[in-house]
Amino acid sequence: MKAVYIKEHGGVDVLEYGDLPEPNPSPVQVKIRVKACGINRLDVFTRAGVRGMRMDLTNPHILGGDVAGEVVGIGSEVKHVKLGDRVVVNPRITCGQCRYCISGAQELCVSPIGLGSTVNGGYAEYVCVPSVNTVSLPEGLSYEEAAALPTVFMPSWNMLIRRANLQPWETVLVLSASSGVGSAAIQVAKNVIGSTVIATTSSQDKADKATALGADRVIVYSKEDIKSRVKEFTNGRGVDVVVDHVGSDFWPAASASLAPGGRYGICGVTSGYTAELQMGMLFIRNQTVFGVFMGRQEELRQIVELVSRGTMRGVVDQTFPLQQASEAHKAMESLGFFGKLILTIP
Ligand SMILES: [Zn+2]
Repeated sequence: MKAVYIKEHGGVDVLEYGDLPEPNPSPVQVKIRVKACGINRLDVFTRAGVRGMRMDLTNPHILGGDVAGEVVGIGSEVKHVKLGDRVVVNPRITCGQCRYCISGAQELCVSPIGLGSTVNGGYAEYVCVPSVNTVSLPEGLSYEEAAALPTVFMPSWNMLIRRANLQPWETVLVLSASSGVGSAAIQVAKNVIGSTVIATTSSQDKADKATALGADRVIVYSKEDIKSRVKEFTNGRGVDVVVDHVGSDFWPAASASLAPGGRYGICGVTSGYTAELQMGMLFIRNQTVFGVFMGRQEELRQIVELVSRGTMRGVVDQTFPLQQASEAHKAMESLGFFGKLILTIP
């Protein structure tokens, strides 16, 4: 089969397009003919071998977790997925056996596997995944849009709905609106919960897109001060929830913008891992800082349901044919996009 793979870590040039053997499904897996695969920052880290993503590359490795496609093979023990089903995949493969998985808290699994980051993923014509990791797609939801959902909507959903318990009368600050997570979190906060959304971004063009997506206020951080603008928009009170997938760079301004009782959620640290926590402020103001990594299988089903109803949508900035994966990675690193970049295989 055709695939894009790496044999060593490095820049975009290490992405090779060529032929690799087709995978065969185990008894609990399904084989998917990949139609679209979303690109994530994690793919860039895996390719480059940075941020804990160095791999043993004895064999070529295929990147890509956010797969959407058609089921063309079924393992002998699979019961609820059929040949021909259109599906999207939760790229976090959990063991199903540890105390957390058994309790339904799959995001806490002690031995998770990452599709495309620890096992071969979806930059290929075929991929095999556990059948339980698939969610069937309704008619009318395209593979490209479906592939824009899992890695950005699952943490946004987990963070806002379950962990932060964001309420309609509350205000949320979404950092970096143009990213995949930013564009997902704005929609979950606005269209699902109905809260007031303040977003940050780097340019007026992106600010306009964030507004179109549902942000009530947008702070262009290249020319406006985040903390003082938040104070102004909230009459000095601050925001109830922060969605941070950016890390160190915005922590000082964003954490200082948190209202009494506020919840600060972290689901990514692209700009840096460490920050200084004002512990005194945290307890005096009854605040919470927490992390989320992806979410639960049932949450992906709920996300697909709401996208199919038109409550939310996968924001696809640009699609690239599989063989242009290196162009897509360049675009990802340029930061000049809004939403998601998607690889397609006709
Ligand atoms: Zn587990």
